Amino acid sequence: MIDNKTLSEYCHDYLDVDTFDDYCPNGLQIEGRQQIRKIIAGVSVNQDLIERVIDEKADALFVHHGLFWQNESLVITGIKKNRIKILLEKNINLFAYHLPLDAHLIVGNNIQLAMHLNIVNPTPIGDTLVWQGEVKLSLIEVSQLVQDITQRIPLVFGDLNQQIKKIAWCTGDAQSYIKHAINIGADCFITGEISEQTPAIAKENNIAFISAGHYATERYGVQALCQHLSEKFNVQYQFIDIDNIV
Ligand SMILES: [Zn+2]
Repeated sequence: MIDNKTLSEYCHDYLDVDTFDDYCPNGLQIEGRQQIRKIIAGVSVNQDLIERVIDEKADALFVHHGLFWQNESLVITGIKKNRIKILLEKNINLFAYHLPLDAHLIVGNNIQLAMHLNIVNPTPIGDTLVWQGEVKLSLIEVSQLVQDITQRIPLVFGDLNQQIKKIAWCTGDAQSYIKHAINIGADCFITGEISEQTPAIAKENNIAFISAGHYATERYGVQALCQHLSEKFNVQYQFIDIDNIV
């Protein structure tokens, strides 16, 4: 058992929250009951996930995509009201960690994706959010591996028989960061989402591109964080998958 303030302070330090210039608040977004015995991990806060958290009688919900974003209206109406109302009524703590959870060197989304894909020497590229590493696979083999771990069929662009050695990736909505992969001469770039212009950008820069799903590539960080917290503070932990094909 742990109290919510201590948990919040621990995560703040562990995830180096102060070093990020993010467009959402990272940390305790909705304060619930003080004592925490059971935590739930999920990718994005939404009504379905909140209802599952209530069913599981958990005290805190940890997500990668929280409730508050800089580019959104500040007023609390509509679906935002519904989500906040039920969290407050049920006394559930909502913790959200965005960029700090992408970048963390142990529990981050990017390092965790690399571990699932067996990428060798995973390292961040300079001060970008993009990572690089090495594999010895054809593009079709990389694509199959991505499909196996994400449980969804990725969109793949490039010659399926080409050999991939240097690989770059960034989880989530990072298709515009393909430029960082091009700059380091990567053979392939993996991210979650794709834009209309991405296939042409990839082709003209002679780099393979895989869109593996925003949700699918960001499942692992929050699970690794909550696994770590459950061991550290002896709290129960469960991951709830609200599947999303995007
Ligand atoms: Zn994301």
